[in-house]
Amino acid sequence: KTMRVKHQKVKVFRANEPFLSVFMWGVNHTSSELSHINVPVMLMPDDFKAHSKVRVDNHLFNKENLPSHFKVKEYCPIVFRNLRERFGIDDADFRESLTRSRLIEVQRYGVFSNDRSQPVSIDSPGRSGARFYSSCDKMYIVKTLTSDEVEQMHALLKEYHPYVVNRHGKTLLPQYLAMYRLTVDNIETYCVVMRNVFSTFLKIHKKYDLKGSTVDREASVKELEKDLPTLKDNDFMKEGTKIHIGEEAKHQLMETLTADVEFLMKLHLMDYSLLLGIHDIAKAEMDGVMQNESEDDAVEEEEEDECSGVPTPPDSPNTAARERATSNGAIDPDVEIYAIESNENAPQREIYFMALIDVLTHYGVKKQAAKAAKTVKYGSNADGISTVEPEQYGRRFLDFMNQAIV
Ligand code: AMP
Ligand code: AMP
Repeated sequence: KTMRVKHQKVKVFRANEPFLSVFMWGVNHTSSELSHINVPVMLMPDDFKAHSKVRVDNHLFNKENLPSHFKVKEYCPIVFRNLRERFGIDDADFRESLTRSRLIEVQRYGVFSNDRSQPVSIDSPGRSGARFYSSCDKMYIVKTLTSDEVEQMHALLKEYHPYVVNRHGKTLLPQYLAMYRLTVDNIETYCVVMRNVFSTFLKIHKKYDLKGSTVDREASVKELEKDLPTLKDNDFMKEGTKIHIGEEAKHQLMETLTADVEFLMKLHLMDYSLLLGIHDIAKAEMDGVMQNESEDDAVEEEEEDECSGVPTPPDSPNTAARERATSNGAIDPDVEIYAIESNENAPQREIYFMALIDVLTHYGVKKQAAKAAKTVKYGSNADGISTVEPEQYGRRFLDFMNQAIV
């Protein structure tokens, strides 16, 4: 109970699952070790094969939070450190975000609706069966991977890193920031850390997963019952939704998307989505008024709200920027990197958050099987089917975005 004091200095790695405590310990450990290793002038091929490993036995300190035996393996530490730097992420901030307080399971706490008090059903952990966690400050998403995906990530990284360098970090591909294997009780959990596409502080009112395909692309009745359902292409079209950002912003966005999609085509990757979150400014203002009115009733101390209870280092530029962003409601482009505001022609004032997700599907044997199955089910209307070849997939994806953005 003494651990509950606010302004704690010692990190305790408290989490809801043992592997998460080990994750927090691992990030803290590997990132401090790495801070003693010089930054090389350039990366070497071996850096893309490297890993660091640490095994902890009979760990008696902090027993109530950490298991007494565990292992942590970090993949390609130098490569990921370099990527973090290119994506403008300070390593000390990165470590703080992921270790200073409990991670939030996304499905359970509906972090994408920015409403942690409202449990959201956890019966649909995504197609892949992956679990998602968010850092408390919502800067980062931790996604669990299979061992095959870890292998694919190694292959991708060799192409992805030079691409990110070439683009000067200007990409809507997932920002991969670190990858680990955590072992507790002989169970291995693989995970990758990515930047959160959505806002650290603005509520997302609508969410879409768009592929540019029409077959099987609507949210199920069950999905629609959720607080913040993931809507799909057919829902988007039926509602006549458009992304109103104007010519100049559209031009820039399409330039980036085109480069990214061509990169994915070249690697025979497909089935990726554009994740789109919409913040409705008018709705948020209404909610703000309502909240202020009921605020007096809600002064009860939130026992579990460690995020706001923990002090932030005053010398951290990132934290300072975040505070500035929250205090006056303005978007800080260094933090909210995916945010684009609607232009004056939009029917409603909105802020869009957009990026590519789920880029690891390689066109291969599995895809061919899926294609055969869908062709059997829906006939040979190959164009409407989501498992066309990567080239076709990419073109159709870009065409769809070109229509959707005005
Ligand atoms: P492990 O780290 O041994 O648990 O491996 C997890 C997955 O990542 C396995 O599919 C490995 O084949 C793959 N993997 C691990 N290290 C590398 C590497 N340096 N290059 C390519 N694949 C790797
Ligand atoms: P996926 O399994 O990658 O398709 O992701 C499932 C869901 O997790 C998506 O529909 C998003 O709501 C969420 N998600 C995945 N990656 C991110 C990310 N980088 N930022 C925010 N949300 C994400």
